[in-house]
Formats: sequence, C-alpha cells, structure tokens
Amino acid sequence: MASSSKKQKVTEKKTVVGFIGLGAMGSHLARHLHAFSQEQWDLPALVWNRTPEKAQEHAKAHGTQAVSSLAELERCDVLCLCLPTTAHVAEVLNDVLLKADSLVIDCTSGDPVQTRELAAKLENVRDVHFVDAPVSGGPKGAEAGTVTSMLGGDPADIALASQVCGAWSKKVVHCGPVGAGDATKAINNVMNSAHLLLATEGLLALKKAGVDPATAVEVINASSGASLQVQRLPDNVLSRKFNYGFALGLMNKDCGIAGDLVAAQTPSASLIPKVVALLGEATERFGADADYTQIAMLLEERAGVTLG
Ligand code: NDP
Repeated sequence: MASSSKKQKVTEKKTVVGFIGLGAMGSHLARHLHAFSQEQWDLPALVWNRTPEKAQEHAKAHGTQAVSSLAELERCDVLCLCLPTTAHVAEVLNDVLLKADSLVIDCTSGDPVQTRELAAKLENVRDVHFVDAPVSGGPKGAEAGTVTSMLGGDPADIALASQVCGAWSKKVVHCGPVGAGDATKAINNVMNSAHLLLATEGLLALKKAGVDPATAVEVINASSGASLQVQRLPDNVLSRKFNYGFALGLMNKDCGIAGDLVAAQTPSASLIPKVVALLGEATERFGADADYTQIAMLLEERAGVTLG
C-alpha cells in the first residue's frame, strides 16, 4: 500500500500526537510528525526523550512541544516511539497510562514475538491499539522523509497508521498482523548484512588476485551482481570512513531477531544463521557502538588484507 497524499485530511477530530525517543532516527521522524500534525490539526507534536535536553533542543529547533514526564503523554491519541528494542518500548509504555482507543505506532526495529505480547497486553488491559511500523532508509532517509515503513497491525488501525507514517515515508506497506512489520524488518536487515559481507568477501579475493577493489565495484555495480551494499562500499568501506550511521549493536540485534525467526519457521536455513554468527563476532570484536559497516573489517582481518 503506497502512502496517501500528505495533504489529505485524516480526520476532522483534533488528534494529539506524541513521539518518544529522539535518537538518530526518532529526532527526524518526530519533526515530520510535527509538520503533519500542524498541517492536519494545527497542533504541535509532543516529544519526550530519556535525556530531556534533547527534547528541549528539538522543541527549540522544530517547534515541537517538549514534555518532561511520560505522564504528560497520557493525553495523546496517537503515540509513536523509536527506541533501541521492544524491551525498551515495553518499559517506557509501562509508565504511560494511555487513553482507551488510542493508537501506539512503534517505529522501533522490534522483536515480533515480544511485540505481539506487548500489543495483546495493551489491548486487553487498556483497550489501546498497536501497530509496529519499523523503517528502513537510515538517518539520511529519515531526515529527508523518504524511508520505507513496514506495518504490522489490525486492518482497522492501518488507515490512520499509514497516514501518520506517510509523514516520513516514501512508501508505506501493510505486511500483515501485529509483528509482521518487525519480522519483515529483521529479514531485511539480515539481508543487508549478508550482501555487505558477501561483497566484502568477493572483493578481498579479487584484491589478492590483483583486481583493484574500486575497479571491481565499478564493474559489479554495472553488472548482475550489483546491490545497494556494493553501491555503499566506496563511501563506507573503501574510504575507511565506516560512518553509515547505524550502530553495529542494533544491526546485531536485528540479525538475532531474524535468526530466531528462521529457527522457528525454517530450521533448514543455513545462510542466515552464518550471517547471525558473523554479526555476533563482529560486535564482540568492535563493540556495539561501532558502525555496522565495520563488519567488513572482520573479514579483512581474517583475510589479512584490507579493501582500502
Ligand atoms: P539511537 O541510539 O540514536 O537512539 C536511541 C533512542 O532511544 C534515544 O532517544 C535514547 O535516549 C532512547 N533510549 C535508549 N535507551 C532508553 C531507555 N532505557 N529508556 C528510554 N529511552 C531510551 O538509535 P537509533 O535512532 O539509531 O535507532 C532507534 C531504532 O531505530 C532501533 O530499533 C534501530 O534498530 C532502528 N533503526 C535505526 C536505523 C539507523 O540507521 N540508525 C535505521 C532504521 C532503523 P537518549 O537520547 O537519552 O540516549
């Protein structure tokens, strides 16, 4: 399902929106949410962040309304979050007594099993609706409002969630019931890592065989082995900058979720478990705060040669 026009009126009812988690992704999503809320309902988006100074800076820079306590978000009709993990989302939502019939849109790249448990609890205990809506496109895509949003939820909640997510997306797709967005995102990210590892492994062999990595990238990008990760190699790996902006620890988390998914659904899978293991080793070697493109360095170290 493609996103609808941002100009289209969602509902005449004044809708109070809020955003929790103003990190590398959330700070941009919250800015787009604010613009959408102003356009739709002439209301600012409320923003909360664990480090309150970031919320105050966001309000100053973008016109959002910083709140200092989670309880102030209890007036939200739509509450969006972008936190590291589903466990963080569950912990934070424990402190917000949301209104009955309100909608939670969770943009965290979450765990589908934990997300389904959380959504069921919110619905049963408080009659709160839940849509998981992780995004792909990195901080630059979030800044430009061009990420892809993958939604999991009840069809009755998807219309409003799609409109809201359309504020920061070039594409919004309903993947299935609650948890389907998280599952799709985890598989997307393990494929992202796999493509990068595969390209690195291939280029290392080519370098040892006397082919310059930059030349190989030029050829492959114009050939049938091309992928987004091969396109990214010059900027992130060949340059030695390793600064895509996505933490290795978060990628490791996503690959672990993908590993659990294939273990439960297709235990015959052999490639994804290998990628999951490599991500774990890279995280141990370089630390959770390293850029995820540093997974290439693990293979470089083993090969005894670098691509730069
Ligand atoms: P960041 O580390 O930049 O931001 C994390 C946010 O979560 C910050 O606002 C942080 O607050 C908050 N936070 C951390 N721990 C807690 C806690 N215990 N309680 C409350 N708030 C907390 O992460 P990203 O924005 O990069 O990632 C967020 C989500 O988006 C993750 O699930 C990630 O996998 C996903 N994602 C990231 C992409 C990327 O390229 N960066 C791309 C697509 C998805 P504080 O400011 O106080 O630290």
